Amino acid sequence: MKIKYLGTAAAEGVPALFCECDTCKKARKVGGKEIRTRSQALIDGKLMLDFPADTYFHSLIHGISLKDVHSYLITHTHSDHFYPKDFAMLGKGFANLKINTPPYRFYGGAEMVKEALKHTANVGDRIELYALEPFKTYEIDEYKVTPLKANHGTETPFIYIIKSKDKCMLYSHDTGLFTDETWDYLLKEKPYFNFISWDCCSGSKKNLDYTSHLCLGYIKDTVKRLNENGITDSKTKHCANHFSHNGPDILYENRAVYEREGYIMSYDGMEIEF
Ligand SMILES: [Zn+2]
Ligand SMILES: [Zn+2]
Ligand SMILES: [Zn+2]
Repeated sequence: MKIKYLGTAAAEGVPALFCECDTCKKARKVGGKEIRTRSQALIDGKLMLDFPADTYFHSLIHGISLKDVHSYLITHTHSDHFYPKDFAMLGKGFANLKINTPPYRFYGGAEMVKEALKHTANVGDRIELYALEPFKTYEIDEYKVTPLKANHGTETPFIYIIKSKDKCMLYSHDTGLFTDETWDYLLKEKPYFNFISWDCCSGSKKNLDYTSHLCLGYIKDTVKRLNENGITDSKTKHCANHFSHNGPDILYENRAVYEREGYIMSYDGMEIEF
């Protein structure tokens, strides 16, 4: 499997829209890998993870023809992950598509469907919406996808196990420390992950005083428990991703902080094969 990171920041981006903190000032000055847009990733060029407002920009800068990407897995309804107002751009006149173009399928929690339905008036049957249940496994294209309950404050946030023929990954965005139900599922089913993409919103912090995101310290604690239970091992690749300008060591120039602990640090456009 191959993941391509299209956007690697939290909601406000790095640099953040209106911010003049030192981190944002530096990112603005240096540019390149220090620019992080809103959260999105593409699996094997065909399974899209999330649909932020930056989807349009990502398609341009990474040369992705969205007319060919028909499967969208939505983690939750925060606008840096899901921006259904852009569904209007699939309407007739906004998108001139061939008659037999397959529908664009959006999968996510019940809240995603509820929010999406507010923006589908002019798209006819070009969009199909699927409400998934946590801890059930679905076949989406050639993948087996299992949503797990995330710890993230919205109504039905999911992190996703995505399994191809021979590889398996966890897309762990956005979430704080795993819920008890999610641990129960993992310890019972014992999936083996070749790759995990981690919510590292708060950068290199050891711990947090809130529960809806993670930091390097919490990720390490979680990985320790996964390793102890054979769900990951020394061969598993881990990538720290989804950085906020408020966290320490979130610029790509700080990547050694993560690399010396065995973690890859994401940047917009990074591809990881596993
Ligand atoms: Zn987010
Ligand atoms: Zn800032
Ligand atoms: Zn979020």
